[in-house]
Order: sequence, then C-alpha cells, then structure tokens
Amino acid sequence: MAQIAERLASLRSQLPPSVQLIAVSKNHPATAIREAYAAGQRHFGENRVQEAIAKQAELTDLPDLTWHLIGPLQSNKVRKAVEHFDWIHSVDSWALAGRLDRIAGELGRSPQICLQVKLLPDPNKAGWDPVDLRADFSQLSQLQHIQIRGLMAIPPLGLTPAETQALFAQAHTLASELQQQAPQLKLTELSMGMSNDWPLAVAEGATWIRVGTQLFGPRSPQ
Ligand SMILES: *Cc1c(COP(=O)(O)O)cnc(C)c1O
Repeated sequence: MAQIAERLASLRSQLPPSVQLIAVSKNHPATAIREAYAAGQRHFGENRVQEAIAKQAELTDLPDLTWHLIGPLQSNKVRKAVEHFDWIHSVDSWALAGRLDRIAGELGRSPQICLQVKLLPDPNKAGWDPVDLRADFSQLSQLQHIQIRGLMAIPPLGLTPAETQALFAQAHTLASELQQQAPQLKLTELSMGMSNDWPLAVAEGATWIRVGTQLFGPRSPQ
C-alpha cells in the first residue's frame, strides 16, 4: 500500500501548480482513500453516489476531504448527490442542471459543477454537443444555486494522441467562449485527463485531472 504514496508523489511531481489532482477511488475501498490521505491527497472522485456515501461513512474522522462526483447522475439521486458532494463534474443536460439548482436551493447548498461536453459523437458517453451547449448556455448561466465552474470532457476510446489532444484544445476554446458570454460566472475549470491521457490534457490547460488506475492500480469488477 506504500505504493499509493509513491505513485502520488511521482504524479504530483509532474504536475504544474495550475493543475489539481482528483484521485478516482471508485471500486477501491475506503482503506485506499485513507492511504492517499496520509500521503496528502484531499480531493477524491467517485462515479456512484451510493458507493461514495458508504465510504464517507467510514471516513468521518478525516474532516477535510473534498468529494467530486464524476459519473452519470440519475435524477432520483440528485438530492443525495447535493448532500454528499462538493463538486459535480458530470452535469450533462439542462434538465439535470435545473433539478440540481432547485434542490441545491432547497438544501441551502451551492455545489460547484462542470458541464460535461461531448466534442465527438460517442454513443457510450453523455454530454452536450457544443451546438446544444451554446443554445442552452444562456439559461444555464441564470441558475442561482449551483456554481457553474467549467467544462468536463472525456474523449471517446480509440483516438490517436494527436486527436485526443485536439479534442482537449477544443474544450478549452469552448470554455473561453462561454466565459465571454457570461462574465458573471467563474468558468475557470477544465476537468479533463485520466490515467492514459492526462499529459495531453495538461498540455491543453486542464485544471483538474481525474486519475484512478495510475494511483490505485487496476479496479476490481463492480
Ligand atoms: C473512472 C474514471 C476516471 C479515472 O479513470 P482511470 O483511467 O482509472 O484513471 C476518470 N474520469 C471518469 C469520468 C471516470 O469514470
């Protein structure tokens, strides 16, 4: 398990200060999170609300963890997600954003969110295509309770590194364009890059990388 600390140190040493690391702990036990915490890691990413809640219950002695939801969020889990996560990276529709905003208001919380974009057609991934996002953005930018902080992008499988990097660059351009449309928002975040492609994302201005396998090793099946 000392491995986790070593892998963290090695990864961190490669990141510029503008990039924050989310340790993706999905399918790994709370003990793995504890190891990473002991090595200084504070931001953790989970894909499933229930799985995260179970781990949080085991980690109540660690007060300063920040939890990021990075997986698809079903509408019936929105309330729990708002209660249990500080960041939600996977907001992929106007309906979900509106619901999050309403429930955040009811709960008196103001989660930070990223809008998930799909820059190439990908049947396996959710997200706005840029045309639809531009169309929805003026009403998104009016929401009062959630804080829209940036974009999340996940490239489809099977791209070349050059294609992947170009897609990250497109995400950056789109975020800058949206920021100009809504100067009242602080759209400073680009959540992009995973174990196999984070250097390309960092080269294109990622501010959050979401890394699981490279830190925790292969995931056991769900
Ligand atoms: C699982 C997952 C990651 C981490 O993937 P690794 O390849 O294990 O680094 C990052 N982002 C999302 C959305 C994920 O589902």
